[in-house]
Amino acid sequence: MSFKEILGQEKALALLKSAVLGKRMSHAYIFVGPAGVGKSKAAINFAKLLVCQDPRQAEPCDVCSSCRKAQVAGHPDIQVLSPEGQFIKIDAVREACRRLSLRGFESSRKVLIVSDGGALNDESANALLKTLEEPSADTVIIILAASLKAVVPTIASRCQKIVFSSLQESVVRDILRKDYQIAEDEALYLARISGGCMETALRFSKEKVFSYKNRLVEEWMKGDFSLSCGHESEKREVRQEAETALYLLAGWLRDILVAQTSPEAKNIINADRIDDIIHLSQRLKTEDLEGALKVVAETAADVKYNINMRVVLARLNAELKKIT
Ligand SMILES: [Zn+2]
Repeated sequence: MSFKEILGQEKALALLKSAVLGKRMSHAYIFVGPAGVGKSKAAINFAKLLVCQDPRQAEPCDVCSSCRKAQVAGHPDIQVLSPEGQFIKIDAVREACRRLSLRGFESSRKVLIVSDGGALNDESANALLKTLEEPSADTVIIILAASLKAVVPTIASRCQKIVFSSLQESVVRDILRKDYQIAEDEALYLARISGGCMETALRFSKEKVFSYKNRLVEEWMKGDFSLSCGHESEKREVRQEAETALYLLAGWLRDILVAQTSPEAKNIINADRIDDIIHLSQRLKTEDLEGALKVVAETAADVKYNINMRVVLARLNAELKKIT
């Protein structure tokens, strides 16, 4: 793997590379940004670069024994600290710091990656603090975090901040296709419905919302659309599923409305069903679509605020049937 495979983070990667090339390395970095935007990949590649025996232009060579070991998480001088349960355990931090204080086994550099800085509680953060304040020579600590606020301030303030930004929709689509082998149609839909947020796109992928959405849409087009909550409407998961269905449905209705004025595929979330969208946009009335969208939004709010789900979904089903 090289930095080139990390998409949409040119600024963050340029900072890291210039630090290596200019030999202005900090002893601690905090990579800040939402989940799924490339922080972990960047940390692993950066660690690999730091232990590589033959780096070229701030890229690891990928063939030396250090690179090969780093790639399979088997390099003795690269440690990764991850939470066990909710937090990173204090004993694990102490052991990692002890190893950082020793001479490198194979490399002159030693790297510690903290996979979730937000999982350092006060105790474990305190244990790490000593090493951050008085680092032994040639150690580099990389802390990953969703936001600076999530990390104990005394830790965050001692690290150089590298910001990983949210991704463009096209980048999210490419990552879903390349890294997760998701088909083109589905990848594009997930990227658009999640507004370019990789974390949401991955959650939606796991929840199989693409096929779920198409099932909902087909039922709606056949006129037998019916969202129900079964007998367990009080359960959180049932509410969440209804919220997702309403969100997908709103995307669908919004597309038909948008297609009435600008029917180009680039404006359509459900680009996989552009023909249906255009057909419906010609057949349905604007005021009916606006009315349906309003009912969906009201239902979503009712579901969120725990109003009787059976009642609000029955109303939604009846209203939506009127316009198909
Ligand atoms: Zn190498």
